Amino acid sequence: METIHPEVQKKSAIERVIDKYVGAKSGRTVCCICGIHGNEHASIHAVHRVFKALHSRKNMFSGKFIALAGNLPALQKNLRFIDEDMNRLWRSDKIQFLRQDLNGHTVSNEESQAKALIKALEKEVNYENGSTIFLDMHTTSSRSKPFIIFGDTLRNRRIAANFKVPYVLGLEEAIPGTIMEYITECGHIGMAFEAGKHDDPASIDIHEAALWLLLESIGCIRKGDFVEELSRSHFIMANASNDLPSILEVRYRHAIESTDMFEMLPGYKNFQSVKQGELLARDKNGSILAKEMGHILMPLYQGLGNDGFFMTRPINKFWLRVSTVMRYIQVNKLVHFLPGVTKHPAKKNTLIVDTHVAKWFVVEIFHLLGFRRITQLNKRTVILTKRRYDIFGPYRPCRN
Ligand SMILES: [Zn+2]
Repeated sequence: METIHPEVQKKSAIERVIDKYVGAKSGRTVCCICGIHGNEHASIHAVHRVFKALHSRKNMFSGKFIALAGNLPALQKNLRFIDEDMNRLWRSDKIQFLRQDLNGHTVSNEESQAKALIKALEKEVNYENGSTIFLDMHTTSSRSKPFIIFGDTLRNRRIAANFKVPYVLGLEEAIPGTIMEYITECGHIGMAFEAGKHDDPASIDIHEAALWLLLESIGCIRKGDFVEELSRSHFIMANASNDLPSILEVRYRHAIESTDMFEMLPGYKNFQSVKQGELLARDKNGSILAKEMGHILMPLYQGLGNDGFFMTRPINKFWLRVSTVMRYIQVNKLVHFLPGVTKHPAKKNTLIVDTHVAKWFVVEIFHLLGFRRITQLNKRTVILTKRRYDIFGPYRPCRN
C-alpha cells in the first residue's frame, strides 16, 4: 500500500506569493505556478524544499526565483476548482475582461483568482534579464510518469530538453485557455510539468528534481555549489521515464460536458498503449473506442474536468530536427505560395488552408513549421495559427 509522505498530510497556509529568493548576482527569473488546480499540492511542498536549501546558502544564486499559488480557495478545500477550471480561462478576450475592474459583473471564484494572479505576476515578474521562465506545476488523477507540455516554439523546446522527461507537443494547443498559453503570448518561456499522481510522495521528489535541473540549466545555480541536490535530481529524472518515448504529439482530445455521463474504463494510466478500436470509456451515447492506436494520456478519473482523455503517438527525433532547420531558415514565410494556402488578411502568423486543394500536406508539414492550432472554419477550410516568438523572445538582453 502507498504510504503518504508527512509533507502531503500537513495542511499548510497558502499565500499568493509562496516565497521568493533574489540572488546577489543578476540572472534569469524563474517563476513557478503552484496549485492552479486546488487538489494538486505536491508542487507547493517541492518549492518549499528548494527555497529552504537556497535560504540556507548565501550568495550562490544568480537571478530571481519565485513561486506563486494559483487557486487559493480551491487549495484550502483540496478541490480541483470551485466554479470552473482555472487553467481554461486564459483566453485573450477573457484576460481583457479580467483586466477591467469587473464591477457590476458576477465573477466566478476562478475569475477573481486569475485577476489576482495577473496582478501578482505584473508586480513580481521583470524583464530586465530577458524573458522569465515559467513552470506551471501539476499532478494527475491517475498514476503517471513525469512529462512536460509546452507550446511548440523552439525557445520552449530548448529549455524543455533539460528536464530529461518525455515531452508532449500539441497538448497546449488542444486545450484552449491554459495559463501557459497566456504566458507564452506575453513573450515569456512557459511549460507545464506533470510530476505524477496527486497524492504520491514521489511527485514531490520529481517536482523538486525538475526545479533543480531547471535552475542549473539556465545558470541560476552552479553545479559545484549544489552537488548533492543536482546529482540526486539527475538520478530521479533518469529513472522516472526511461521506458517511454521521448517525444509524443497529441492526435485527439476527447472533450466532455458535465451532462455526458462520461466514465473512463478503470485501470488506464498515462502513456499506456492502446489498440485501434479498443473500448476506453462510456458515456450517455454508448461506447467510446480508440480511433487509432497510440498512447493514452490523462484519462479522467477525478470526476471534475472537460477532458476525458487524449490520444498521442511518438514522433521520431529526426522529424524534430527537420522541423528546427525548417524554422530557422523560415520556410513558413514561403508556404503561402503553396496551392490552397493563403495568408490571413488580418492576423499575423495565421494561414487559411483549403483542405480540398492542399490535401496531402496539411497537418504534418504545418506541424513541423509550428502551426499547431487548427480551427475548422467550415467543411473544407481550416485556419492554422503559429505562436509568436518561436526563435527569439521580445525581451533583451538575453536571446531567449
Ligand atoms: Zn493540474
